[in-house]
Amino acid sequence: MDNTIAFAIAVAIILLFMLNYLRKQKKMEARAREAAEKGKLFSEGPKSQHPHIDANYCIGCAACTMVCPEGDVLAMLGGKAVIVNGYKCIGHSLCAEVCPVGAITMVLASPSMGADIPYLTPEYETSIKNMFIVGELGGLALIKNAVNQGRDCIDTIVRRRASLGGARPVPGVYDVVIVGAGPAGISASLRAIENKLNYVTLDEGEIGGTVAKYPRQKLVMTSPVEFPMHGKFKKTELSKEDLIAFWKKVCERADFKVRQGEKVEDVKKGQDGIFTVSTLKGQYRARNVVLAIGKSGSPRKLGIKGEDLAKVMYRLIEADHYVNKKILVVGGGDSAIEAAMGLGHQVGNQVVLSYRKEAFSRIKERNAQRIEEAIRKGKVKVVFNSNPVEFRKDSVVLDVNGKLHEIPNDFVWIFAGGEPPTAFLKKIGVGFGAQDLTTTGSREAKEAREAKQAVAQLLGNPASNQIRPRMPSGSGG
Ligand SMILES: Cc1cc2nc3c(=O)[nH]c(=O)nc-3n(C[C@H](O)[C@H](O)[C@H](O)COP(=O)(O)OP(=O)(O)OC[C@H]3O[C@@H](n4cnc5c(N)ncnc54)[C@H](O)[C@@H]3O)c2cc1C
Repeated sequence: MDNTIAFAIAVAIILLFMLNYLRKQKKMEARAREAAEKGKLFSEGPKSQHPHIDANYCIGCAACTMVCPEGDVLAMLGGKAVIVNGYKCIGHSLCAEVCPVGAITMVLASPSMGADIPYLTPEYETSIKNMFIVGELGGLALIKNAVNQGRDCIDTIVRRRASLGGARPVPGVYDVVIVGAGPAGISASLRAIENKLNYVTLDEGEIGGTVAKYPRQKLVMTSPVEFPMHGKFKKTELSKEDLIAFWKKVCERADFKVRQGEKVEDVKKGQDGIFTVSTLKGQYRARNVVLAIGKSGSPRKLGIKGEDLAKVMYRLIEADHYVNKKILVVGGGDSAIEAAMGLGHQVGNQVVLSYRKEAFSRIKERNAQRIEEAIRKGKVKVVFNSNPVEFRKDSVVLDVNGKLHEIPNDFVWIFAGGEPPTAFLKKIGVGFGAQDLTTTGSREAKEAREAKQAVAQLLGNPASNQIRPRMPSGSGG
């Protein structure tokens, strides 16, 4: 009798645990479906390195979904990990590191995107001798990669210079022109100062690059990195504001000067091997050029009053950071529509989409259907035949069919086209070609292999010891 009661209690406890487990699984799956639905609003996938999940190896432990600093890039669907919000992925690789069975490998880009990556030597030199590309423009995201590449590239220039017995200074010719003052450009510039090179750094915007444009107080994940003019930078988690403040402090100490608000429009190499770098404000001659211009491209501006207010943006980084806000999105292309829908689906947002024409044209069929649905559900209000004429602190002024309307407003996003960096590179003659840094002998490949091996050893799992060959993206599960 006692045995029967004990058995019944044991069965009841097991059932309770199982029910609890199944309930949790159901909740997780529901959350994953919700995240996947949101993800569908954005047609862009990952822009650079990102995980590829081999469904045959995935054991459904969900460890990868819990470590992503960017939130819901991965989710569990049907018991397997899948990519649901690829556009949010910036390649931290933590998912690959925690996977206990080595089912996740980091891949550089889909084959179609590979064609958009400039050809680079292991020294980050382009198809044009003495012209280098560092940072995200070369295909690898992350601040630590940008810092490492910027620094190493200047070391190459210094080494080459020394091997020629040191170049004789020529009046009016810089040793190097550095284009871009994001993490890659800052690192390159500080290394140039360290090595007493005659340099100039140009940026069309402000110092800090993409990092300066992150949402306020975004938590930045990084890895210990050797930062020129400072030494080892050991912090791994800090706010965007603290990171920018650190860079500014080092830059001030090094007396780093950047010409801000100067967009490079063209780069030409003369018969004498000297480059001429042209901006609207002037021309700079140099023996070497380092392009550290990132992947975002240059957005077209409207040129209206108030456009320089901090609330006016040209790229939507994280829609979920904006709730209970009055928002204006300007434009009629896929990016504008996706941003309006993404923002419209956040709690309490009132989104107005202003488009200068009388109807949308040349947008994806899927977006045409979804925007109709968003309008019907009151998530987005579209105002055709309208143009913003002024942005004010708490409002915007719209010209609708010739009549001015002032509407309350917290944030503005403008999607009026622009020049992608690939168009600029093609214009100046840089060659393109797919490359996969995860399988080369580069520093990044070595670090990725070492991290993976360390995790595999900890878990006693030899299956993780190899980086599998690159696979097409989007096939993650
Ligand atoms: C939302 C988001 C979150 C992220 N979070 C992290 C994170 O937590 N940790 C991490 O390691 N990475 C993160 N990243 C990635 C990281 O920000 C980028 O990989 C990094 O900023 C790339 O540095 P970069 O110097 O190559 O380019 P950028 O930072 O993009 O800088 C390029 C600079 O070049 C300038 N420029 C462009 N064109 C021209 C031109 N023609 N003339 C003159 N100047 C020009 C731009 O104004 C800009 O200042 C994140 C990215 C995003 C979008």
